[in-house]
Amino acid sequence: MTPVQPVRGTQSLLHEDADRLAAVVAAFDRVRRLYGFRRVEVPTIEHTAVFARTIGETTDVVSKEMYSFEDRGGESITLRPEFTAGICRAYLSEGWQQFAPLKLAASGSAFRYERPQKGRFREFHQLDAEIIGAGEAQADVELLAFADQLLKELGISGTILKLNTLGDPETRAAWRDALFEHFRAHAGALSEDSQARLERNPLRILDSKAHQDWPVVDSAPVIDDFLTPEAADFFGKVTVGLDAAGIAWERAPRLVRGLDYYRHTAFEFVTDRLGAQGTVIAGGRYDGLIEALGGPHTPAVGWAAGIERLAMMIDPPQAEKPMAVIVPLGDRAEAVGQRLLAALRRDGIAADMAYRGNMKKRLGRANDAGAAFALIIGEVELDSGEVQVKNLATGDQRSVSFDGIAEALRS
Ligand code: ATP
Ligand code: MG
Repeated sequence: MTPVQPVRGTQSLLHEDADRLAAVVAAFDRVRRLYGFRRVEVPTIEHTAVFARTIGETTDVVSKEMYSFEDRGGESITLRPEFTAGICRAYLSEGWQQFAPLKLAASGSAFRYERPQKGRFREFHQLDAEIIGAGEAQADVELLAFADQLLKELGISGTILKLNTLGDPETRAAWRDALFEHFRAHAGALSEDSQARLERNPLRILDSKAHQDWPVVDSAPVIDDFLTPEAADFFGKVTVGLDAAGIAWERAPRLVRGLDYYRHTAFEFVTDRLGAQGTVIAGGRYDGLIEALGGPHTPAVGWAAGIERLAMMIDPPQAEKPMAVIVPLGDRAEAVGQRLLAALRRDGIAADMAYRGNMKKRLGRANDAGAAFALIIGEVELDSGEVQVKNLATGDQRSVSFDGIAEALRS
């Protein structure tokens, strides 16, 4: 029988590869506390409408990437392709409005039916940060500062914050019309995908990954010519705040986001270290999303980060090593070894026992595990109530009484 294969685009990770993902989440958890973001948990599955109504029917995510299925009760269910929509659904259905403004942090799996490649998977993991119920530009600044500090905490350098505004609905509508005219005039030069986007959502052409489209995209009208005074003022407040907080940014006048729900601020932290998958953190303001779910007008801003992409860019995390490995010789010593092992672990000391093979093999295992000490228990030691503590780095060895071991290891 051929062994069972994994589902395409999923990952099974061991050792350092798994540690990398955990290190990214741990750093996220440290930084989100500094910024006062509380943890939030939302389901992996939602009614399909939660994503279809908010992300937009014309986006890649909804039109071709969603994992949707009918459950046994005949309901259309979708595995979350991102966190924002589910968090907003919960904000409404769970009565979280009473706590607004809310600063929330989540992490976990997300699912998109995409062509797998480096940095692109069908089940991947995201970090997510949201501020719900705050329409002030200071919220955007705080959220961006969080992302910026996370990258620093992870030791990732060389990313650039690309910043744009998509303006208010009035701005966006005027820009959209101008883009439509521009792209229609050059339709012949556009990729098939972009030609299809022309009628439905010309903004999306700006986000095209097809090289063929780039010259036409580069000559497209920029939003600055259409900004209402209010939209310009809001963007000004964001950039002044970023400068005050010492966060480097670069204006990207043609940056739009893949999802339809953005207003005003839109941004991406990008790197050139990951090839085509260069966006590591992305987000923006989505003041219209909660209304799209049937809720009251609620301003909000957020970002999501691809954990795998961040994990590829960090230094390898310290491998986990036991402080001590117990090397017992004989059955009686193994029983005593278990007692010592349990005592050390309860005392907060990472310890293991080598219980396979002869003395040489066992000591070899202690070395391979990267332990600082081997604790050798033989017949002589059993009688004297002592253990041979061998420093594996120096080879020094001395007798220590059972009760004094934890202390001897720590000093
Ligand atoms: P891309 O342009 O790379 O497809 P996107 O615009 O679809 O990204 P978002 O919806 O903004 O991505 O998701 C936020 C982040 O999640 C991305 O910046 C990226 O780091 C990560 N991400 C998105 N899709 C995947 C995927 N299929 N595999 C791994 N990471 C992903
Ligand atoms: Mg995508």
